Amino acid sequence: MDNCIFCKIVRKELPCNKIYEDEDLMAFNDIHPAAPVHFLLIPKLHIDSLAEIQDHHQNLLGKMLLLAPRLAKEQGCDDGFRTIINTGHVGGQEVLHLHFHVIGGRKRLPGMIHHQG
Ligand code: 5GP
Ligand code: ZN
Repeated sequence: MDNCIFCKIVRKELPCNKIYEDEDLMAFNDIHPAAPVHFLLIPKLHIDSLAEIQDHHQNLLGKMLLLAPRLAKEQGCDDGFRTIINTGHVGGQEVLHLHFHVIGGRKRLPGMIHHQG
């Protein structure tokens, strides 16, 4: 994916503040953090969003879910964290390369979903 910014980060064509990398995954700090800890965990493989995942992505997705709490702890989230996967237009996804936001810090995060009346 030539013009995808996260693919460019994977290919080292754009810099990032990397916290993890292996053959399949990468994690780096969000450029506009929403809390003291805010990193993005991505597959190196370009997948547009969670809406596009296929059966053969099962191992990759499992690997991401297993890694998220480990990295969160390493980053200092000792008492919980929030994991967000924005998907598509309604979900507010801005970068069309699948990514998990992992967000935390010392204080409880604000409520996220505002219930309809
Ligand atoms: P989305 O709304 O797609 O779930 O979130 C995209 C996230 O990527 C945003 O939180 C935004 O701050 C972050 N982001 C966008 N461009 C870059 C970049 O070039 N580098 C890094 N580290 N984060 C980025
Ligand atoms: Zn990409």
